[in-house]
Amino acid sequence: MKINGNFQNMEKNYLFAEVAARSAAYAKAHPEKKLLRMGIGDVSGPLPAAVVKAMKDACDEMATKEDFRGYGPYEGYDFLREAISGYYASLGVTVDVSEIYVNDGAKSDAGNIGDLFDRDNLCLIPDPVYPVYVDSNLMAGRPVEYLRACPENGFLPLPQMDTKADLIYICSPNNPTGAVYDREGLKAWVDFANRRGALILFDAAYEAFISDPALPRSIYEIDGARTCAVEMCTLSKLAGFTGVRCGYTVFPKELERGGEQLGALWLRRQSTKFNGVSYPVQRGAAAAFSKEGLAQAMAGIAYYKENAAIMAETIGSFTRYWGGANSPYIWLECPGKRKSWEYFDYLLNEKQIVATPGAGFGPGGEGFLRLTAFGDREDVLEAMDRIAR
Ligand code: PLP
Repeated sequence: MKINGNFQNMEKNYLFAEVAARSAAYAKAHPEKKLLRMGIGDVSGPLPAAVVKAMKDACDEMATKEDFRGYGPYEGYDFLREAISGYYASLGVTVDVSEIYVNDGAKSDAGNIGDLFDRDNLCLIPDPVYPVYVDSNLMAGRPVEYLRACPENGFLPLPQMDTKADLIYICSPNNPTGAVYDREGLKAWVDFANRRGALILFDAAYEAFISDPALPRSIYEIDGARTCAVEMCTLSKLAGFTGVRCGYTVFPKELERGGEQLGALWLRRQSTKFNGVSYPVQRGAAAAFSKEGLAQAMAGIAYYKENAAIMAETIGSFTRYWGGANSPYIWLECPGKRKSWEYFDYLLNEKQIVATPGAGFGPGGEGFLRLTAFGDREDVLEAMDRIAR
């Protein structure tokens, strides 16, 4: 028996596990100090009332012989797929119900989608970015090339004459930088992918934070995307589902490679390895897309965005920062040219603030730090007060 040797190509710890370990060690050594957590991108809730009611009602249904449900469809219940399709329609995008595959969150699909692809595909992955894309491809033994995002390109790299790629990951709004592609930028990637027969894996996890109508919230707003792009999304950030778990991935019908429809391959994969999302959770997710549920969810997002605006004001007074306006993240340059983990330790030890070191999102993140706006207002105000002092 041999283990998967590819694990040696990865960092020993998952970034957020390392952040959690260091802050837990600090908390244990200094139980009297109040830690303010602005590290992991977890929401602070609560769930929209419409979601809670729908989940409770679904549990009541499950308590009766007539309405009890066992294993559900691998691609998700139609009532939820229809609600998601309706949400796309509200963005001016046509996505058919049959093109939507419900999952337990975008991390699962971002990590598992590689099952569809040959090991020799070259992956082009922005740097810095959400670590799951790099780690899952390294785990599978796939070659990874970084696409450098930096202040000079506004953290929004575009294809160049010599760019090579089979699989292209795009995260917009980007985690961690908060940068959002405009239509021209995404069009450049769509045209590139269609010309090369490459595939874009578009992560729209933070689309609901985009308030500028000039910025696209779905890659399918771009002409030509249906023949080259898969879109992954989640209710985690839209409706506070990080502890509830539900998301979805879109495979347009036109999306074919090697004579196979990718959506059909994905269903084959899911029916083998995925048990679906529980019925009450899917009912809750569908309620999040109802008029009432969306209004409640968007009120939660407005609260986080107000946090981001408060943070941006303080951070901007002493260093350069990006993000905030259309995302829940503030991406800042560590003052005094400090390295990411050095500044992380400084904030932890001197200010009792837990951030996320930029270097954990890829080599291009060195010298930067990410703060999240997902916390309680009082904590945000206290953290900014501590930083200002
Ligand atoms: N994609 C991005 C860019 C994220 O930042 C995250 C979580 O932070 C996810 C996906 C995972 O979301 P989920 O909770 O749906 O797995």
